[in-house]
Amino acid sequence: MEVDPVTVEDVSANLEPVLSFKEGGVRELIQRLQCSSKRGHGVLPENTLVLERSCEHPAVVNGVCNDCCQKIEEDGNYGLDFSYLHMGLRLSRSEIDRLRCLETERLFSQRKLHLVLDIDNTLIHSFRSDAFSKLGVPKDDMQEVDGIFVKLRPLVSAFLERASTMFEMHLYTLGSRSYAKKMAKILDPQDKYFDHRIISRNESPGLVKTLDLVLGMESSILILDDNDQVWPNHEPNLILMKEFLFTGKKTDENEMNTPLNDILKALSAIHTAFFDDNIQAMFRDRDVRELAASVRSTVLKGCNLYVSNVKYAGILRLRAKELGATCSKELNHSVTHLVSCHKGTEDFNRAASEKKYLVLPRWIKDAYFFWKRPAEENFPIKKSSKAILKAIIACTVFLS
Ligand SMILES: [Mg+2]
Ligand SMILES: [Zn+2]
Repeated sequence: MEVDPVTVEDVSANLEPVLSFKEGGVRELIQRLQCSSKRGHGVLPENTLVLERSCEHPAVVNGVCNDCCQKIEEDGNYGLDFSYLHMGLRLSRSEIDRLRCLETERLFSQRKLHLVLDIDNTLIHSFRSDAFSKLGVPKDDMQEVDGIFVKLRPLVSAFLERASTMFEMHLYTLGSRSYAKKMAKILDPQDKYFDHRIISRNESPGLVKTLDLVLGMESSILILDDNDQVWPNHEPNLILMKEFLFTGKKTDENEMNTPLNDILKALSAIHTAFFDDNIQAMFRDRDVRELAASVRSTVLKGCNLYVSNVKYAGILRLRAKELGATCSKELNHSVTHLVSCHKGTEDFNRAASEKKYLVLPRWIKDAYFFWKRPAEENFPIKKSSKAILKAIIACTVFLS
């Protein structure tokens, strides 16, 4: 529907609370909404001419269009919940698309991209106080807010600081809004990184997360999350994180073995590739999903794997291929690595005699989580094959 500029101008001159979102990005939108709620938005003087004919209702607050003050049916057909930007706010699909382009263009001008960060087990591990007391670790190792104990992932503060030079960041959790805000306060005490960009389950559709709620073009958004199940529609945007768990034991992640440093390097490589001045394509025609796949495919380049006697071999092969490895159907001379859980098998003995690398399946997982080829000697195959043990036992029984 075309907006008649003359009508809009004439009427808005008489109507202070009537605001137009035809210009400006998210910041302007929020400013205007805050300004209008202070004035008591949606309350129109009587006998006011309402812009029903020309208004496309871009933003609705508590069921009332903030442009024309018309009541909008909450029948589920109108737009999406953006309460994380402003209480009670819903935006129309076309307004979402408009803001998406605008926000991404704004970031491009600062040579930045969007980064969506999961909170739990990606940046922190949090505990209710009863669960925490079972851990039996000193409280001074943790931060506490309203009975929730929080352990920050090692290097998380440095990670956020450096990531913020390349990305504008969102937090996205399926926890409640109040939980999300509390964790944001701990992660970003000086309020430098996230501003209003904190999305919770209050806005999300059911038990999944969606980039529909992120005001940026999907071709410029990366996601860090330890759970790929919650992102069924955005796998190409996702950098799957190794789950961060705090147990208070020596085996916990520390500053030396956290993946955050390596993830930062991967993010930096993707960012550099995106803003490469030698590429002809306009920024808006570039795609961070393709670049992430391309950077990932260099990790195990040149490795030819033979996966033998391993659970979930299908998914392991898939991950290995994403990392740039090839997978052989047979153990031939071109195979560089035998991936197996058991030593002493026919495959193992042959690969060992041919001086191939012999690694546990965890070697592939680590490559996937750290975006680098792990040292093979750290993943030796130690256990003997259960099949062989069973055969020996069976044989012994038979002979006795
Ligand atoms: Mg998580
Ligand atoms: Zn309207």
